[in-house]
Amino acid sequence: MPMAKRQEQEEARTEVSEVAPGVMRMELPIHMPGLGHVNCYAIIDKDGAAVVDPGLPGPGTWRALGERLGQIGMTTKNVHTVIVTHSHPDHFGGASRFAKESGAKVVAHRTFRFGPMGSDDHAEVSADDLAAEEPDSDHPEAPPEPKSPTESMRDFSKGKTPWGGERPRPPLKTRLKWRMMGALGRSSIVPEVTHPVEHGDVLVLANREWFVVHTPGHTGDHFCLHDPDTGLFLAGDHVLPTITPHISGISSSPDPLSSFFYSLDRVAEIRDVQTVLPAHGHPFDDLKARSEAIKRHHHERLDQVISISREIGRPADVQSFMQQLFKPRSWGAMAESETYAHLEHLRIAGNAERSNDAEGTYLYLA
Ligand SMILES: [Zn+2]
Ligand SMILES: [Zn+2]
Repeated sequence: MPMAKRQEQEEARTEVSEVAPGVMRMELPIHMPGLGHVNCYAIIDKDGAAVVDPGLPGPGTWRALGERLGQIGMTTKNVHTVIVTHSHPDHFGGASRFAKESGAKVVAHRTFRFGPMGSDDHAEVSADDLAAEEPDSDHPEAPPEPKSPTESMRDFSKGKTPWGGERPRPPLKTRLKWRMMGALGRSSIVPEVTHPVEHGDVLVLANREWFVVHTPGHTGDHFCLHDPDTGLFLAGDHVLPTITPHISGISSSPDPLSSFFYSLDRVAEIRDVQTVLPAHGHPFDDLKARSEAIKRHHHERLDQVISISREIGRPADVQSFMQQLFKPRSWGAMAESETYAHLEHLRIAGNAERSNDAEGTYLYLA
C-alpha cells in the first residue's frame, strides 16, 4: 500500500496564497529526499517585497519566482530584500540573482558560510558540487585550510566522513547541473551577505518589527524571524510540520544535536506565536508542541541507540547503528551522518565510548 504523502513532499503548486496579511506563500519546485517544494515567503510593503528563502539556484526557480510574483502584481525587480534562513542551496539559491538584478540587500546570519570548511554541514550539497572541475573519486584536492577544525571535520576534504563512510551528496544529475552553473562562477550561486544579523537583531519589514532568533542545529547559521505583534514566526527548516529536520554529524559544532535541543527550547519558550510559517509544508499554529515533539523524537532515537548497542554487545561502527535505526529505504549517507550526530551526542555526555578499529574507523559502545 503506498504511503500517504507528507505535506513537505507535495509538489510545488503554482497558486500563491496569503498566509497572513501582506505575507504571501510561494511554493518553489525542489526534488530532494523527502522534499517536493520549498516555501518562499514574500512580505509586501509600499516599496515592493522582501522574500524569505528564494529556492534553488538556476533558471527553473527564477522562472517560478517571476511567475509567482506576477500573480501579485510584481516582478523580480520589486524585490528589495532577500532573507536567507540558513546556508542550504534550496534556501539561498535565488539570492545572488536578486542582488544582481534588483540590487536587493541580502540578509543572513553573520556566520553564514557555504563550503566544506564552512560553518556547517552540507547534507544536500557540498562546495565540490558547485565547482567547475570534476572533483569526484580519487582526485587529489587542495589541502584544506581549517580555521578551527573540529574533530568531526577530519578527512572531510577527502570526500570521506570521520566515521569512514561516504559523504552525503545529492543525486548525480543535480550535482552535474550545479557544476555547470558553478562554471559561471561560485558567486553566481552563493550570495554575498550584505546585511549580516545575529540573535536579538530587529528587522523592519512591512512596518513590522521582526526579531532574529538564532537557532543553530540543522545548520549552525540557522535563524528564525518572529513578529511579536502579529504572532508570526518564520521557521525556516528549524521546525517543520511533519518531518524532523536533518541533523548532520558533519558540522562546525562538535555536538550539533545539543545545539538543536537548545534551539528547540529557545523557540518553544516564545509566547503568543499564532502562525508558524515553515520552509517546507503548510503553515501551522502550535510551535511549542511541535518543538517538543521533535525533541522527543531525538530522545527516543538516543534511547534506541543505547539499546542497539546493548544488543550488539561490542563496539560497532556507525553503519551498523544506522541500519538498525533507519528503515532500509532511508539507508545512506544522510542517515549515517544523523546516526553519527546521535552517537557523538551520547559520547560527549559520557554515555558512550568511542574507539578505532584497525583501519581507523570509529566504533561505539553505548
Ligand atoms: Zn536546510
Ligand atoms: Zn530546507
